Amino acid sequence: MPDKITVAGVPVDTRHWIGGRRVASGDTFTDVSPIDGSVLGEISRGTPAEAAAAVAAAKAAFPAWAATSRAERARILHAVADGVDKRLEELAVVETTDNGALLRSHRRGVMPRVAHNFRFFADWLLTLEHEDFETRGHRNHVSWDPAGPSVLITPWNAPLMLATWKVAPALAAGNTVVLKPAEWSPLTASLLADIAAAAGLPAGVLNVVQGYGSEIGDALTSHPDVRRISFTGSVPTARRIAASAATQLTPLSLELGGKSPLLVFADADLDLAVDLAVEQYDNAGQVCLAATRLLVQESIAEEFTRRFVEKASRLTQGDPRDEATDIGPTIHPRQLEKIDGFVRRATAAGARAVIGGHAEDGRYYAPTLLTDVAQDSEIVQEEVFGPVLTLQTLSLIRADRVTDRLVAGTVWVNCFFVRDLQAPFGGSRLSGVGREGGTWSFDFYCDLKNTVTAPEGWQDHG
Ligand code: NAD
Repeated sequence: MPDKITVAGVPVDTRHWIGGRRVASGDTFTDVSPIDGSVLGEISRGTPAEAAAAVAAAKAAFPAWAATSRAERARILHAVADGVDKRLEELAVVETTDNGALLRSHRRGVMPRVAHNFRFFADWLLTLEHEDFETRGHRNHVSWDPAGPSVLITPWNAPLMLATWKVAPALAAGNTVVLKPAEWSPLTASLLADIAAAAGLPAGVLNVVQGYGSEIGDALTSHPDVRRISFTGSVPTARRIAASAATQLTPLSLELGGKSPLLVFADADLDLAVDLAVEQYDNAGQVCLAATRLLVQESIAEEFTRRFVEKASRLTQGDPRDEATDIGPTIHPRQLEKIDGFVRRATAAGARAVIGGHAEDGRYYAPTLLTDVAQDSEIVQEEVFGPVLTLQTLSLIRADRVTDRLVAGTVWVNCFFVRDLQAPFGGSRLSGVGREGGTWSFDFYCDLKNTVTAPEGWQDHG
């Protein structure tokens, strides 16, 4: 197999990146574009031995990176961000070709945010301070020590963006990293390895292992030298990872699925509410935080639905590289089947498709709105991860109660998808464990140490 493939004119290495070297596996898996099913290339299919080699490289590189001054770590992370900015267009086209999300979003939103992730955590690192405390003349000095080699496992729906939410704070805090990207979108992680090396990140500080989670996941997550595991993905995988990590009691951060509601009350700005509701079809609905349950106050439900249908019917579905496209393909024919299965079971149980309700072809699913759905039905309770919304009505009495009882990691009021990187991001209950962002990320990747120093001449042994 060739070591490099060319994707949308951009050369991409198909091998792992371990200890500052490219390493090929004996076997490969095929990476396919969701846009048209074309084969992009054969990617190294990692083995448990290669996963262990990546952890060993991260362990070997850890002492020197942890001892590197904060200023120097910050400088290198800014250089990584510069590299991302320089290759922004390449990253955007490769990501779109690999995962089918809109090119215009990658160009204008996602990839600039990738660079921002590195800049933000580099700058934040320089401001980190903990309070000192004093007790009976003894100084309690609290410091952060980087925890050690960290395994970062990421999904396919926003591959590089979600990876760098983890990579940037982990590296900033002084940890070394083994990144395992999703097998349906492995390419931009390989480009990130090139960018990081060119920016001067020392060998072994960032390692990338490609392959199936089912084949190499356990070797990473049960490894005794791994000090942190951060995972974004589905609940069933999270359960397997938690069980595997339990052997070493390795601390976990889990960003999982969602089934968020969008609440629309009678006094809402209805045009804004409809705009925000239609926005939930972004990335063909493959967004963990998408508000896929529209809960609309009874008195405005009819008018809301009319305006929603009018707007949603104007969405253009097609090639995500086309500037005019609003909704691209789903990641994989298997995902499309999964989405269609949810919708077929819902309609068989009495749901009505106001729009959509069917696949357009083997890759695209029509934006769908289902009404007449029961609260305890599968379609209301389970994450679909496709362009499928449900609409239920809220009575005024219930609406009052609902606002007091939201259990949610983020509540957006009259807006959506806006977050300062200093604020926490994560979910409650089955949507996750822990938070990413600002100081929450640093806390996760560090061990806190309290150093208590006696005043001179103090003889307290008590
Ligand atoms: P997934 O759980 O199938 O896979 C995620 C990653 O886990 C992949 O890299 C996969 O190879 C790896 N993996 C699989 N089995 C493993 C194992 N046994 N050990 C270790 N790693 C293993 O999820 P997905 O289908 O790629 O992503 C979709 C899910 O991710 C949805 O549920 C979505 O809501 C969630 N998600 C959450 C967030 C968030 O921030 N909360 C963001 C995006 C996606």
